[in-house]
Amino acid sequence: MENNKELGTWLNKFGLNHPLVIAGPCSAETEEQVLKIAHQLKDTDTNVLRAGIWKPRTRPGNFEGVGALGLKWLQKAKEETGLLTTTEVANANHVELALKHDVDILWIGARTTVSPFIVQDIADALKGTNKTVLIKNPVNPDLALWLGAVERFYTQDVKNLGVIHRGFSTYEKTRYRNNPEWQIAVDLQNEFPDLPLILDPSHIAGRRDIIFDLCQTALDLNYDGLMVETHFDPDNAWSDAAQQITPAALDQITRDLRIRKTSSNESEFNNKLNTLRTKIDVVDHQIIDQIGKRMAIADQIGILKKDNNVSILQAKRWNEILGKMILQGEEKNLSEEFVLKVFKAIHQESIQHQKNVAK
Ligand code: PEP
Ligand code: MN
Repeated sequence: MENNKELGTWLNKFGLNHPLVIAGPCSAETEEQVLKIAHQLKDTDTNVLRAGIWKPRTRPGNFEGVGALGLKWLQKAKEETGLLTTTEVANANHVELALKHDVDILWIGARTTVSPFIVQDIADALKGTNKTVLIKNPVNPDLALWLGAVERFYTQDVKNLGVIHRGFSTYEKTRYRNNPEWQIAVDLQNEFPDLPLILDPSHIAGRRDIIFDLCQTALDLNYDGLMVETHFDPDNAWSDAAQQITPAALDQITRDLRIRKTSSNESEFNNKLNTLRTKIDVVDHQIIDQIGKRMAIADQIGILKKDNNVSILQAKRWNEILGKMILQGEEKNLSEEFVLKVFKAIHQESIQHQKNVAK
């Protein structure tokens, strides 16, 4: 798939001076719930109402969605509020029903994007459609798989495409429900600058207190839109309760966000600078995170050495590490002097950690 400006035109038609905002509940629960949320969102920056009708759940026994019935509620919400609508489709039958009920935008869920067979079936069912299709990143951090799904739609002549970044699952528990791995989305953006990129902070966060920060990072990285789970009574939502926010909270977030897209020369410079700075921030976070992980391993080594009465400083092992790192540093254009300084500091901290646990 060559980079094609055609890819972004559906978004330009909105003529927005702010990012596209998609909002609504994780799941459609009742007709009243969908309509109430839609009306509360009508007077915010929201352009598109989202609601899951068929819910892919990690474990059986959780609420699995109201099914096709919910499509009528979305249709009614559109009639009453003028908001466009979107829902997740996970097979060809969902596609047929969603098209029949005039859903405007279809999204492909993270658990679907991982499966080329299913993606192909959905792409075949949508062949030549004018509808917009948004493709969430796969649950695993694999850019090629994500792009592969985009290509399957593109080659079926689905040209109104976009991608949604919803983070990647990890076994290890972090502050996120799904790790953002911003670099993957940034790489995708660099490769296809005209493919609209939307952030789903809700599924990255898994909790509501960091939604704003995630949205701001996305805008600083020049994302084109946001998809935020919104419910009038988040705590009692039937799915993903911890991460949903009220329409009023969303309204406040969109007011507080710094939107940097303007066209004057000076602002363009500032935009570029800010984007680059945000990229640096992302890498800095990764550096601290990785050093933290290294020290946690050093703690384990400290305990092991203590239990076996082995001394903390092992000069031979340390010289081997330094040699390897200097060579690797050369490949990345880092001077020997710099690599030595960094690793000396890391080593000292590591020894301190081992001493602390060996006390
Ligand atoms: C959702 O948007 O409610 C959803 C199920 O998302 P994901 O596919 O990102 O898990
Ligand atoms: Mn959800």
